[in-house]
Amino acid sequence: MELNIYDFTPETLEGYLGNVPRFRTRQIYKWIFAGKTPDEMTNVPKDLREKLKNECYTKLPKIDIKLVSKLDGTVKYLFRMEDDAGIESVVMPYHHGRTICVSSQAGCRMGCAFCASTIDGLDRNLSSGEIIGQILAAERDTGERISNVVIMGSGEPLDNYDNVLDFIRNAVNPDGLGLSARHITLSTCGLVDKMRQLAGENLPINLAVSLHAPNDEIRKKLMPIAKSVPIEKLVSESRKYFDMTHRRVTFEYALIRGVNDSVENAKELSALLGGFSGFHVNLIPVNHVEERAFQKSEKATAEMFVKTLEKAGTQVTVRRKMGADIDAACGQLRRAAKRKDNCL
Ligand code: SAH
Repeated sequence: MELNIYDFTPETLEGYLGNVPRFRTRQIYKWIFAGKTPDEMTNVPKDLREKLKNECYTKLPKIDIKLVSKLDGTVKYLFRMEDDAGIESVVMPYHHGRTICVSSQAGCRMGCAFCASTIDGLDRNLSSGEIIGQILAAERDTGERISNVVIMGSGEPLDNYDNVLDFIRNAVNPDGLGLSARHITLSTCGLVDKMRQLAGENLPINLAVSLHAPNDEIRKKLMPIAKSVPIEKLVSESRKYFDMTHRRVTFEYALIRGVNDSVENAKELSALLGGFSGFHVNLIPVNHVEERAFQKSEKATAEMFVKTLEKAGTQVTVRRKMGADIDAACGQLRRAAKRKDNCL
Protein backbone atom coordinates (compact mmCIF):
# COMPACT_ATOMS: atom_id res chain seq x y z
CA MET A 1 0.00 0.00 0.00
CA GLU A 2 1.29 3.41 -0.97
CA LEU A 3 0.17 5.56 1.92
CA ASN A 4 1.30 5.10 5.48
CA ILE A 5 -1.43 6.73 7.58
CA TYR A 6 1.19 8.09 10.02
CA ASP A 7 2.93 9.95 7.19
CA PHE A 8 0.15 12.49 6.90
CA THR A 9 0.75 16.07 7.92
CA PRO A 10 -2.24 18.40 8.43
CA GLU A 11 -1.67 19.73 4.90
CA THR A 12 -1.27 16.39 3.10
CA LEU A 13 -4.25 14.93 4.96
CA GLU A 14 -6.40 17.84 3.86
CA GLY A 15 -5.29 17.33 0.26
CA TYR A 16 -5.89 13.61 0.48
CA LEU A 17 -9.38 13.82 1.96
CA GLY A 18 -10.43 16.39 -0.63
CA ASN A 19 -13.74 18.00 -0.16
CA VAL A 20 -14.42 17.54 3.54
CA PRO A 21 -14.95 20.20 6.19
CA ARG A 22 -11.91 21.46 8.09
CA PHE A 23 -13.09 20.12 11.43
CA ARG A 24 -13.35 16.64 9.92
CA THR A 25 -9.73 16.69 8.75
CA ARG A 26 -8.68 17.81 12.19
CA GLN A 27 -10.73 15.09 13.85
CA ILE A 28 -9.10 12.41 11.70
CA TYR A 29 -5.62 13.87 12.21
CA LYS A 30 -6.13 13.69 15.97
CA TRP A 31 -7.29 10.09 15.83
CA ILE A 32 -4.32 9.06 13.70
CA PHE A 33 -1.77 10.39 16.16
CA ALA A 34 -3.70 9.03 19.11
CA GLY A 35 -2.71 5.74 17.47
CA LYS A 36 -6.26 4.75 16.55
CA THR A 37 -7.17 2.67 13.51
CA PRO A 38 -9.93 3.85 11.13
CA ASP A 39 -12.37 1.42 12.77
CA GLU A 40 -11.79 3.15 16.09
CA MET A 41 -12.50 6.65 14.72
CA THR A 42 -15.99 6.57 16.18
CA ASN A 43 -17.11 10.10 15.29
CA VAL A 44 -15.99 9.89 11.64
CA PRO A 45 -18.52 8.96 8.89
CA LYS A 46 -18.29 5.40 7.67
CA ASP A 47 -17.33 6.25 4.08
CA LEU A 48 -14.24 8.16 5.25
CA ARG A 49 -13.29 5.38 7.64
CA GLU A 50 -13.59 2.88 4.78
CA LYS A 51 -11.51 5.09 2.49
CA LEU A 52 -8.71 5.26 5.06
CA LYS A 53 -8.96 1.55 5.76
CA ASN A 54 -8.80 0.56 2.11
CA GLU A 55 -6.21 3.02 0.90
CA CYS A 56 -3.78 3.43 3.79
CA TYR A 57 -1.30 1.26 5.59
CA THR A 58 -2.38 1.55 9.21
CA LYS A 59 -0.07 -0.83 11.06
CA LEU A 60 2.51 0.36 13.55
CA PRO A 61 6.08 -0.97 13.35
CA LYS A 62 6.08 -4.60 14.46
CA ILE A 63 8.07 -5.58 17.54
CA ASP A 64 10.58 -8.19 16.42
CA ILE A 65 12.80 -8.27 19.49
CA LYS A 66 12.23 -6.57 22.86
CA LEU A 67 14.82 -6.50 25.62
CA VAL A 68 14.23 -5.05 29.07
CA SER A 69 17.13 -4.02 31.29
CA LYS A 70 17.05 -5.52 34.76
CA LEU A 71 19.32 -2.72 35.93
CA ASP A 72 17.22 0.35 35.12
CA GLY A 73 14.11 -0.64 33.15
CA THR A 74 15.46 0.58 29.80
CA VAL A 75 13.56 -1.11 26.97
CA LYS A 76 15.14 -1.77 23.63
CA TYR A 77 13.15 -2.66 20.53
CA LEU A 78 14.08 -4.04 17.17
CA PHE A 79 11.13 -3.08 14.98
CA ARG A 80 10.27 -4.53 11.57
CA MET A 81 8.91 -2.18 8.98
CA GLU A 82 6.45 -3.12 6.24
CA ASP A 83 9.31 -4.08 3.87
CA ASP A 84 11.15 -6.02 6.61
CA ALA A 85 13.74 -3.30 7.27
CA GLY A 86 14.89 -3.61 10.88
CA ILE A 87 15.27 -0.50 13.02
CA GLU A 88 16.00 0.14 16.67
CA SER A 89 14.47 2.33 19.33
CA VAL A 90 15.29 2.57 23.03
CA VAL A 91 12.98 3.79 25.79
CA MET A 92 14.68 5.09 28.91
CA PRO A 93 12.77 5.79 32.11
CA TYR A 94 14.10 8.91 33.81
CA HIS A 95 12.66 10.61 36.87
CA HIS A 96 11.31 13.46 34.70
CA GLY A 97 9.52 11.14 32.27
CA ARG A 98 10.18 8.63 29.54
CA THR A 99 12.67 9.38 26.80
CA ILE A 100 12.71 7.52 23.52
CA CYS A 101 15.67 7.35 21.19
CA VAL A 102 14.33 6.95 17.65
CA SER A 103 16.04 5.99 14.40
CA SER A 104 15.74 8.23 11.35
CA GLN A 105 17.21 5.89 8.73
CA ALA A 106 17.67 2.15 8.32
CA GLY A 107 21.45 2.05 8.36
CA CYS A 108 23.53 5.17 7.73
CA ARG A 109 25.96 6.44 5.11
CA MET A 110 28.05 8.77 7.28
CA GLY A 111 30.69 6.11 7.92
CA CYS A 112 31.83 7.05 11.46
CA ALA A 113 34.57 4.64 12.45
CA PHE A 114 33.20 3.75 15.90
CA CYS A 115 29.52 3.36 15.00
CA ALA A 116 27.61 0.11 14.45
CA SER A 117 24.78 1.66 12.41
CA THR A 118 26.93 2.54 9.44
CA ILE A 119 28.76 -0.75 8.92
CA ASP A 120 26.59 -1.91 6.00
CA GLY A 121 25.85 1.61 4.79
CA LEU A 122 22.42 3.10 4.24
CA ASP A 123 19.45 0.82 3.55
CA ARG A 124 16.94 3.62 3.15
CA ASN A 125 15.40 6.68 4.71
CA LEU A 126 12.54 6.21 7.14
CA SER A 127 9.35 8.10 6.41
CA SER A 128 8.01 10.51 9.02
CA GLY A 129 5.30 7.95 9.80
CA GLU A 130 7.87 5.26 10.42
CA ILE A 131 9.67 7.55 12.86
CA ILE A 132 6.54 8.57 14.76
CA GLY A 133 5.40 4.93 14.56
CA GLN A 134 8.33 3.98 16.83
CA ILE A 135 6.89 6.24 19.53
CA LEU A 136 3.31 5.06 19.11
CA ALA A 137 4.34 1.41 19.08
CA ALA A 138 6.48 1.82 22.21
CA GLU A 139 3.70 3.69 24.01
CA ARG A 140 1.19 1.04 23.10
CA ASP A 141 3.54 -1.71 24.24
CA THR A 142 4.53 -0.16 27.57
CA GLY A 143 1.20 1.53 28.28
CA GLU A 144 3.14 4.65 29.26
CA ARG A 145 3.33 8.10 27.70
CA ILE A 146 6.64 9.22 26.28
CA SER A 147 7.52 12.84 27.00
CA ASN A 148 10.99 13.27 25.52
CA VAL A 149 12.45 12.31 22.17
CA VAL A 150 16.05 12.13 21.07
CA ILE A 151 16.71 11.53 17.38
CA MET A 152 19.90 9.63 18.11
CA GLY A 153 19.20 6.13 16.91
CA SER A 154 20.43 4.76 13.60
CA GLY A 155 20.86 7.23 10.79
CA GLU A 156 21.77 10.84 10.20
CA PRO A 157 18.55 12.84 10.64
CA LEU A 158 19.74 15.80 8.58
CA ASP A 159 20.45 13.40 5.70
CA ASN A 160 16.69 12.67 5.71
CA TYR A 161 15.69 16.27 6.32
CA ASP A 162 12.16 16.54 4.92
CA ASN A 163 10.85 13.37 6.56
CA VAL A 164 12.46 14.23 9.88
CA LEU A 165 10.96 17.71 9.75
CA ASP A 166 7.48 16.30 9.04
CA PHE A 167 8.01 13.97 11.98
CA ILE A 168 8.99 16.80 14.32
CA ARG A 169 6.07 18.97 13.21
CA ASN A 170 3.61 16.14 13.85
CA ALA A 171 5.27 15.42 17.19
CA VAL A 172 4.92 19.02 18.41
CA ASN A 173 1.48 19.65 16.92
CA PRO A 174 -1.02 19.84 19.83
CA ASP A 175 -3.38 17.73 17.69
CA GLY A 176 -0.54 15.31 16.94
CA LEU A 177 1.63 13.95 19.76
CA GLY A 178 1.53 17.31 21.52
CA LEU A 179 5.14 17.13 22.69
CA SER A 180 7.08 20.21 23.65
CA ALA A 181 9.76 21.15 21.10
CA ARG A 182 12.02 21.73 24.08
CA HIS A 183 11.74 18.03 24.84
CA ILE A 184 13.02 17.01 21.41
CA THR A 185 16.72 16.72 20.59
CA LEU A 186 18.18 16.14 17.15
CA SER A 187 21.70 14.80 16.92
CA THR A 188 23.84 15.37 13.83
CA CYS A 189 27.38 14.53 12.79
CA GLY A 190 27.53 18.05 11.35
CA LEU A 191 25.75 18.65 8.03
CA VAL A 192 26.19 22.39 8.40
CA ASP A 193 23.93 23.57 5.57
CA LYS A 194 21.05 21.60 7.03
CA MET A 195 21.88 22.83 10.53
CA ARG A 196 21.39 26.37 9.26
CA GLN A 197 18.13 25.39 7.56
CA LEU A 198 16.92 23.77 10.78
CA ALA A 199 17.74 26.89 12.77
CA GLY A 200 15.43 28.82 10.47
CA GLU A 201 12.42 26.51 10.94
CA ASN A 202 11.13 28.32 14.01
CA LEU A 203 11.15 25.10 16.00
CA PRO A 204 12.94 25.46 19.33
CA ILE A 205 14.27 21.90 19.41
CA ASN A 206 17.61 21.06 21.01
CA LEU A 207 20.60 20.36 18.84
CA ALA A 208 23.31 17.85 19.66
CA VAL A 209 26.43 17.88 17.53
CA SER A 210 28.64 14.80 17.38
CA LEU A 211 32.09 16.26 17.76
CA HIS A 212 34.23 13.44 19.21
CA ALA A 213 37.50 15.27 18.60
CA PRO A 214 39.13 18.60 19.46
CA ASN A 215 40.70 19.11 16.02
CA ASP A 216 40.36 18.13 12.37
CA GLU A 217 43.28 15.72 12.42
CA ILE A 218 41.68 13.41 14.99
CA ARG A 219 38.16 14.03 13.74
CA LYS A 220 39.08 13.00 10.19
CA LYS A 221 40.25 9.64 11.51
CA LEU A 222 36.89 9.04 13.16
CA MET A 223 34.33 10.79 10.99
CA PRO A 224 34.42 11.11 7.17
CA ILE A 225 32.26 14.26 7.40
CA ALA A 226 35.31 16.03 8.87
CA LYS A 227 36.92 15.88 5.42
CA SER A 228 34.30 18.23 4.03
CA VAL A 229 33.36 20.28 7.10
CA PRO A 230 36.22 21.87 9.06
CA ILE A 231 35.75 21.75 12.82
CA GLU A 232 35.90 25.57 13.13
CA LYS A 233 33.02 25.85 10.68
CA LEU A 234 31.03 23.25 12.62
CA VAL A 235 31.50 25.18 15.85
CA SER A 236 30.61 28.51 14.27
CA GLU A 237 27.44 27.01 12.76
CA SER A 238 26.56 25.57 16.18
CA ARG A 239 26.97 29.04 17.61
CA LYS A 240 24.69 30.33 14.87
CA TYR A 241 22.11 27.71 15.84
CA PHE A 242 22.21 29.01 19.40
CA ASP A 243 21.97 32.62 18.30
CA MET A 244 18.95 31.89 16.10
CA THR A 245 17.04 29.54 18.43
CA HIS A 246 18.37 30.35 21.93
CA ARG A 247 18.63 26.64 22.52
CA ARG A 248 21.81 25.39 24.13
CA VAL A 249 23.90 23.17 21.87
CA THR A 250 25.32 19.93 23.22
CA PHE A 251 28.56 18.55 21.80
CA GLU A 252 28.69 14.79 22.00
CA TYR A 253 32.18 13.48 22.67
CA ALA A 254 32.80 9.74 22.94
CA LEU A 255 35.94 9.15 24.97
CA ILE A 256 38.11 6.63 23.14
CA ARG A 257 41.19 5.22 24.79
CA GLY A 258 44.39 6.68 23.40
CA VAL A 259 42.59 8.44 20.54
CA ASN A 260 40.95 11.61 21.90
CA ASP A 261 41.17 11.42 25.70
CA SER A 262 44.42 13.15 26.71
CA VAL A 263 44.71 16.27 28.85
CA GLU A 264 46.01 18.04 25.74
CA ASN A 265 42.86 17.00 23.87
CA ALA A 266 40.69 18.36 26.69
CA LYS A 267 42.53 21.70 26.67
CA GLU A 268 42.22 21.94 22.92
CA LEU A 269 38.51 21.16 23.15
CA SER A 270 37.95 23.94 25.69
CA ALA A 271 39.88 26.38 23.54
CA LEU A 272 37.81 25.39 20.51
CA LEU A 273 34.51 26.01 22.32
CA GLY A 274 35.80 29.21 23.87
CA GLY A 275 33.89 29.06 27.17
CA PHE A 276 30.66 30.06 25.41
CA SER A 277 27.72 29.59 27.78
CA GLY A 278 25.41 28.32 25.02
CA PHE A 279 27.65 25.27 24.59
CA HIS A 280 27.82 22.17 26.67
CA VAL A 281 29.91 19.00 26.33
CA ASN A 282 28.38 15.59 26.92
CA LEU A 283 31.01 12.91 27.40
CA ILE A 284 30.10 9.34 26.51
CA PRO A 285 32.31 6.36 27.22
CA VAL A 286 32.62 4.85 23.73
CA ASN A 287 30.46 1.74 23.43
CA HIS A 288 32.25 -1.35 22.34
CA VAL A 289 31.13 -2.55 18.91
CA GLU A 290 32.17 -6.04 17.90
CA GLU A 291 33.40 -5.01 14.45
CA ARG A 292 35.35 -2.02 15.79
CA ALA A 293 38.61 -1.91 17.70
CA PHE A 294 37.88 1.12 19.89
CA GLN A 295 38.01 0.87 23.67
CA LYS A 296 36.58 3.23 26.22
CA SER A 297 38.97 5.39 28.23
CA GLU A 298 40.34 4.30 31.60
CA LYS A 299 38.30 5.67 34.47
CA ALA A 300 41.11 7.87 35.75
CA THR A 301 41.75 9.25 32.26
CA ALA A 302 38.07 10.10 31.83
CA GLU A 303 38.00 11.82 35.23
CA MET A 304 41.07 13.83 34.32
CA PHE A 305 39.42 14.85 31.04
CA VAL A 306 36.33 16.10 32.90
CA LYS A 307 38.45 18.03 35.41
CA THR A 308 40.51 19.66 32.68
CA LEU A 309 37.37 20.86 30.90
CA GLU A 310 35.85 22.14 34.14
CA LYS A 311 39.00 24.01 35.05
CA ALA A 312 38.93 25.73 31.69
CA GLY A 313 35.31 26.79 32.28
CA THR A 314 33.69 24.39 29.82
CA GLN A 315 30.30 23.04 30.87
CA VAL A 316 30.47 19.28 30.92
CA THR A 317 28.40 16.29 31.92
CA VAL A 318 29.08 12.59 31.66
CA ARG A 319 26.30 10.58 30.12
CA ARG A 320 24.77 8.05 32.45
CA LYS A 321 24.92 4.65 30.89
CA MET A 322 21.47 3.12 30.53
CA GLY A 323 20.61 -0.47 29.73
CA ALA A 324 24.21 -1.69 29.97
CA ASP A 325 23.02 -5.29 30.29
CA ILE A 326 21.02 -5.19 27.03
CA ASP A 327 23.59 -3.51 24.78
CA ALA A 328 21.33 -0.48 24.53
CA ALA A 329 23.69 1.53 22.34
CA CYS A 330 22.51 2.41 18.87
CA GLY A 331 22.79 -0.02 16.03
CA GLN A 332 23.96 -2.97 18.05
CA LEU A 333 20.76 -5.00 18.13
CA ARG A 334 20.15 -4.55 14.43
CA ARG A 335 23.76 -5.61 13.79
CA ALA A 336 23.38 -8.67 15.95
CA ALA A 337 20.15 -9.65 14.15
CA LYS A 338 21.88 -9.18 10.77
CA ARG A 339 24.85 -11.29 11.82
CA LYS A 340 22.46 -14.04 12.85
CA ASP A 341 20.59 -13.83 9.54
CA ASN A 342 23.84 -14.06 7.61
CA CYS A 343 24.72 -17.27 9.40
CA LEU A 344 21.44 -18.99 8.55
N1 SAH B 1 23.92 10.60 12.97
C1 SAH B 1 23.64 11.34 14.15
C2 SAH B 1 22.77 10.62 15.17
C3 SAH B 1 22.97 9.16 15.42
S1 SAH B 1 24.23 8.62 16.48
C4 SAH B 1 24.94 11.80 14.79
O1 SAH B 1 25.98 11.49 14.28
O2 SAH B 1 24.87 12.55 15.77
C5 SAH B 1 23.93 9.23 18.09
C6 SAH B 1 25.22 9.47 18.86
O3 SAH B 1 25.86 8.26 19.23
C7 SAH B 1 26.24 10.26 18.06
O4 SAH B 1 26.85 11.22 18.89
C8 SAH B 1 27.22 9.19 17.66
O5 SAH B 1 28.46 9.73 17.30
C9 SAH B 1 27.24 8.33 18.90
N2 SAH B 1 27.79 6.99 18.74
C10 SAH B 1 27.72 6.16 17.69
N3 SAH B 1 28.37 5.01 17.94
C11 SAH B 1 28.87 5.12 19.18
C12 SAH B 1 29.65 4.26 20.00
N4 SAH B 1 30.07 3.07 19.59
N5 SAH B 1 29.96 4.72 21.23
C13 SAH B 1 29.56 5.93 21.67
N6 SAH B 1 28.83 6.78 20.94
C14 SAH B 1 28.50 6.38 19.70
